[in-house]
Amino acid sequence: LWRFWGPLSSLSKVYSQLLSAMASADRIFEILDTKPEVRDMPGARPLPPIRGSVVFDQVSFRYAPDKPEVLRSIQLDIKAGQRIAIVGPTGAGKSTIINMLMRFYDPTSGRVLIDGHDIKEVSLASLRSQIGIVLQDSFIFSGTIEENLRYGKKDATMEEIERAARSVRIDRLVEKFPDGYQTQVEERGSMLSVGQRQLLAFGRVLLADPKILILDEATSSVDTETEQHIQEALNVLLEGRTAFIIAHRLSTIRDADVILVIEQGQIAESGSHEELLAHGGIYANLYYNQFLMQQSLAKKASGT
Ligand code: ADP
Repeated sequence: LWRFWGPLSSLSKVYSQLLSAMASADRIFEILDTKPEVRDMPGARPLPPIRGSVVFDQVSFRYAPDKPEVLRSIQLDIKAGQRIAIVGPTGAGKSTIINMLMRFYDPTSGRVLIDGHDIKEVSLASLRSQIGIVLQDSFIFSGTIEENLRYGKKDATMEEIERAARSVRIDRLVEKFPDGYQTQVEERGSMLSVGQRQLLAFGRVLLADPKILILDEATSSVDTETEQHIQEALNVLLEGRTAFIIAHRLSTIRDADVILVIEQGQIAESGSHEELLAHGGIYANLYYNQFLMQQSLAKKASGT
């Protein structure tokens, strides 16, 4: 059986490196740029402001010459503004696809194009500053709520910060704290719940306003009210962006423009929920056997 709940192994690793470096780091991308795997080509140009179309042109990848291929001839043509749900078992290659898009690694063969630009040819900073990312364990650093939000846009006005907080439904929460936006939060502190940390991370991305968004959907159980807020905030966040979502929630998967079913480094199936159900393949099977089962179990458990 598939496990949709596996952590994003490689991405999380990069992020834990980031987290530990965070305190001294001015910008996240400066640290990423020091990763040895990839660097700017000589004379790399900045990626101009993008609309957010993404093409994977026969992308294959192995992590090392002596390692097996983990992506095999991935072919994708994503239009600006589309929502892509990536599903598949642990180890299938979902995070590696994201690693290609962020250019944490370069494809062994093939190309990744954003708005027609081969991302190998543009500067890393200009690429990554146009891609937003929200991981399961959204990272919050020690500092005030304002600072945590402002990380998305250094020169944001207080008005912009408050507007972002409102959009992601954390304004009420913040206003309850005596120090408001100046409330101090800790990296692993208990001041904010898991769900509230997620919302704060959404607010940060909203301020940064990237055209491409990568989301590793959290599976942590949160209370019903926070869950509702997360769903609403997510819809605000996704509006007008190309989104790649390592999806865990059925509702997110069902609403996606394209569901990519990844198995053993290949696109096993792709299409909308309806298309894949009609196709009667892996996704349809998974949907009927696993998701519907889960839902009915959850309903029983909650007594509704
Ligand atoms: P998923 O996100 O679907 O769980 P991954 O993309 O993380 O899958 O992993 C795909 C394959 O690549 C797995 O076999 C995994 O063990 C391997 N892999 C992932 N990251 C690395 C790495 N940094 N070095 C070597 N192998 C890796």
